Amino acid sequence: MKLKTLLSAGVALAAAAWAGPGVAATANGPICDTAAYVNSTTYYSCTGSSHTALDIGNGSCGEWNHRGMLVGNYYYYYYGGCAAACYGSTCNGGAGNYYVVSGASGWDFRQLHFYANVSSGTKTCDRCALGLVGGTGNATGPHVHADNRQYGTRKSAWYTSVGTTCGTNAYCNNRLGVPTL
Ligand SMILES: [Zn+2]
Repeated sequence: MKLKTLLSAGVALAAAAWAGPGVAATANGPICDTAAYVNSTTYYSCTGSSHTALDIGNGSCGEWNHRGMLVGNYYYYYYGGCAAACYGSTCNGGAGNYYVVSGASGWDFRQLHFYANVSSGTKTCDRCALGLVGGTGNATGPHVHADNRQYGTRKSAWYTSVGTTCGTNAYCNNRLGVPTL
């Protein structure tokens, strides 16, 4: 498939110029701490039930910035209203405080569970602070959940295609995936 070839080749320029639905973005780690790791990918805690997204944490709550992961300027739409929590809460259907970047053809990229602070709100930015790493919504501990969906179905190719797996270091300069938007 033409799209898949472009995406897996990582030819960002060619993909960006392609007029069809969805282009490859680049997603770096959300936490600027070398102690940040990927803890869940296709399965919760790597061997549990289906998850099909990345969970990233540094073992800390409410301290380090939870940053926008997409490289380049993107419009992050804010869904807030959840009180600060590190180990889960019932809010926004389990998503907690979260952001959505919407793309073409039903594609989106989401970052969930953060802990709101003065940085939180809808904005266009490049890897800016979105809040603090937290555990709002369906979370057993502080982490960032990142997913790439098409019409609400979570996809795995964006991280499997670049070799991100459990244990991958998720420092903010490291590329974790190439989501479609
Ligand atoms: Zn998750």
